[in-house]
Amino acid sequence: MVTTGEKPGKGTYICNNCGTEIILDDNSDTMPPCPKCNETEFNRK
Ligand SMILES: [Zn+2]
Repeated sequence: MVTTGEKPGKGTYICNNCGTEIILDDNSDTMPPCPKCNETEFNRK
């Protein structure tokens, strides 16, 4: 489980609520809230 504000590293993450994919392409990127539904919890794809 990855939460908004963490820096989980490069990878694809799936919104726990609506399934939107969030792609982080840099290890220093901070996990944003879901752009669609504002969910703050994600699973690594
Ligand atoms: Zn969502």
